[in-house]
Amino acid sequence: MYVVATPIGNLEDLSPRAARLLGEVALVAAEDTRHTSRLLRHLGVAPAVMSLHEHNEAGRVEQIDRRLAAGEDVALVSDAGTPLISDPGFVLVRELRARQRCIVPVPGACALVAALSAAGLATDQFLFNGFLPAKSGPRRTRLEALVEHQASLVFYESPHRIHATLADLARVFGERPLVLARELTKTFETFLAGTADTLIARLEADPDQARGEFVIMVEGAPPRDVSESVTIEADALLSSLLAEGV
Ligand code: SAM
Repeated sequence: MYVVATPIGNLEDLSPRAARLLGEVALVAAEDTRHTSRLLRHLGVAPAVMSLHEHNEAGRVEQIDRRLAAGEDVALVSDAGTPLISDPGFVLVRELRARQRCIVPVPGACALVAALSAAGLATDQFLFNGFLPAKSGPRRTRLEALVEHQASLVFYESPHRIHATLADLARVFGERPLVLARELTKTFETFLAGTADTLIARLEADPDQARGEFVIMVEGAPPRDVSESVTIEADALLSSLLAEGV
């Protein structure tokens, strides 16, 4: 089974290999069949298409495994970007791997990688967090658990929650630098950098900036001062030795 990345906006980002394979496989398992049928029509190919989304994924494993066992090739695609990255496919891939099926990645667009590659934040370490919880309480709890992390933090966000999420980022991360990547590879692609508060002000001043799809990136926490923590530990040890009368 081929795990095929599709564009996140710009159709030219579909690789020639992905285009060829989508025309060669017997079956395409797609998150939204209507959405993928448009892409297949654009390519001028007409494989069979089957829906595979979070609600039917487990049930599709047997069907897809039977097609593979019969010697057919299958492609897994999602609506945009790389399958399994905040998209369906994990259960299928895990189950097929457990059955020793051959799984072949066909790489291409992925919003988190595209965003990081042009944001100007450190990329030697990053922590991808997918979507934050929809409700503010759990969202803030999740953010608070990340505040000491030294890796760059990456989140996906929808236009409905961008204001609320930026407000929670302001509360938890204060003046920490952020980059907002919007509508990547599309006509209105924008990168905005600033603190959460300044980004909220930018979105309020120009509501068009709050439309579309977003990747939010947060600079990692500064490294902890090791000498400071060593001093604290040494002080604690000395106090306990003194308390024991050593
Ligand atoms: N599998 C996809 C990938 O490889 O990036 C991600 C799918 S996830 C359901 C959709 C989210 O990805 C959006 O809500 C947004 O946060 C992000 N995203 C997808 N396309 C984007 C784009 N063109 N610009 C900015 N963010 C995008």
